[in-house]
Order: sequence, then C-alpha cells, then structure tokens
Amino acid sequence: MESLDEKHKKCFEVLYAIEEEKTKCICGGAKDLFDAAQRGCCYCCWKHFDQAGKTRDNYKIPNWGTYNGATALMVAAACGKASVVRMLLDKEGGMHETTFGMTAMMFAASNGHECVKILAPLEKGMQKNDGWTALMLAAMNGHLECVKILAPLEKGMKDNNGNTAKSIASSNNHKDCYSYLSQFE
Ligand SMILES: [Zn+2]
Repeated sequence: MESLDEKHKKCFEVLYAIEEEKTKCICGGAKDLFDAAQRGCCYCCWKHFDQAGKTRDNYKIPNWGTYNGATALMVAAACGKASVVRMLLDKEGGMHETTFGMTAMMFAASNGHECVKILAPLEKGMQKNDGWTALMLAAMNGHLECVKILAPLEKGMKDNNGNTAKSIASSNNHKDCYSYLSQFE
C-alpha cells in the first residue's frame, strides 16, 4: 500500500504538471472552454475558466452525437484529454447530460480512455437513462484496461433490462473482458 507521503507526492506532481501546462498554449488558441477541452489545452481552459459549470444544448461532442446539457468535461473525457479532465473535475464532475443521461466517465469509458481513473471517485455507480454504467460501455466496446479500473467499482450493476457488464461483454464477443468480469459477477 502507498504511504500517505507517497500519495501527497503524487498529488503534488499532478498539480505541478497542471500549473506547468497552464503557462503556455499548446493548441494555437481556442475560442472557448469547449474548444479548449477538445484540444486538450490547459492554458486555454484556464483562460476560459469562467465558463466552467455552464452546460450547452444541441452540442455535438466530437465523434459522438448531439447532446443537451453537455459539459466541457464530457468533451475532454470523450477526447481523452486527462489534464483538462483534472482541471474541470471539481466544477463539472458528477453531471449527466440530459438527452440520454451520459456522464463524462461514460464517454471516456466508451472510448477506452484511462482518464476514467480520474473521474471514477466522483462518477462511479452513475447510470444513464437506460440503466447503463461506464463499465457496461467499456465492456461493450472491449476496452479491457477501463474494464479493469471500473469492475471493482461497478460490479453487479444491472441496466433497465437486467443486463450486466459481463453479459454485455459476452453478447459483443469480447472474451478478454468477459473472462475478467467473471471474477466479479
Ligand atoms: Zn491553447
């Protein structure tokens, strides 16, 4: 187990890295917070941070559909921009968009981004309107690393039709995810 000192050291390193990244633009200039989140630029996020916590309707999340109540955190999570996810977590963690009830962690898990680790403390156990969890979405898409992170946190949960992450991995023929989940269900 990690000692408290080691944990503090890690927290400090993460915060220090974000402060470093805030000092210069890596994206050529973003027009607003959502744009900065998509580009993964901490400098531009900081510049537009007054927009944090404000949702958008009819917003197209990159490579996804159009959502009402979308947050910049969801955009960062969908794009796997971990530093921006860390920056926005306090302001926007734990929110559902209002079209299907997706969370930022669900977008990350569906796309196999390991920033689910950052989101899990705030968003574990959340379900979208049809009862699906981030773990189920990772299992459906065969993202074993995300399944490993989320399985201990969301094991045994069922969607509105009684499906579990394990049954979803099975019906989508992801054998590695299925066998990993078998130890939890
Ligand atoms: Zn930038």
